[in-house]
Amino acid sequence: MKILCTNDDGLHSPGLDALIAICSGIGQVVCVAPDREQSATSHSLTLHRPLRAIPRGPDRWQVDGTPTDCVVLALGALLPAPPDFVVAGINLGPNMGEDVLYSGTVAAAMEGLILGVPGVAVSFAGNEHDLIGGYRDRLGRLLERLLQPGRFPADLLLNINLPPIPADRVRGVRVTTLGKRVYAESLSRMRDPWGREIFWIGGGRLDWSGGDDVDFKAVEDGYVSVTPLKADLTHHASLEAVRAWRLGD
Ligand code: MN
Repeated sequence: MKILCTNDDGLHSPGLDALIAICSGIGQVVCVAPDREQSATSHSLTLHRPLRAIPRGPDRWQVDGTPTDCVVLALGALLPAPPDFVVAGINLGPNMGEDVLYSGTVAAAMEGLILGVPGVAVSFAGNEHDLIGGYRDRLGRLLERLLQPGRFPADLLLNINLPPIPADRVRGVRVTTLGKRVYAESLSRMRDPWGREIFWIGGGRLDWSGGDDVDFKAVEDGYVSVTPLKADLTHHASLEAVRAWRLGD
């Protein structure tokens, strides 16, 4: 089995090292990753300048672009054949609720889906990144069970979030839905050195809402959260209602 590993924190992220170590125990790993941090770049594609893929050892490439660029280059040019899976992460920070729409980690796995390769995105939902190393066995067992080419649908993305606790205190795995995340005070109004007004997005407090089956709740309860995602954003339940608006008349 061939696995393409990538991330949005850059080639030098310890989260990527951990992911490569785990995936190397499951299959043959090729890594194509951004040369610097690309968090919250979402699904952006670089169109207005060329991209360079520089070899960084056997089966490792560094690309001066976004996570999506990395997957496009890997599947379109760098790999001799498509991999069985795209696995992105381990992101240094959570990717739950609507944050999956901003995440470069989730977008990389989603780009695999769009190009016909199913994917998994893995994030560590905390700040104590030293704890990630302890997840090697637990995450390895989980990925080994999940990454089965015959069973895993080609249009499925599994979004995994690890709780911010030591791996030996994890209570289990929950299959979840996306919750709703609420940021407070995450937009700051400031002055630049010349006294002009500027705005800075980031920081603040993260809160969430949702039922018992959402990703935030699972992680808060000490479980590994696994949320199945798909690329098709069609609001199927509204199709008939919108058709009834008779927009063509
Ligand atoms: Mn990131």
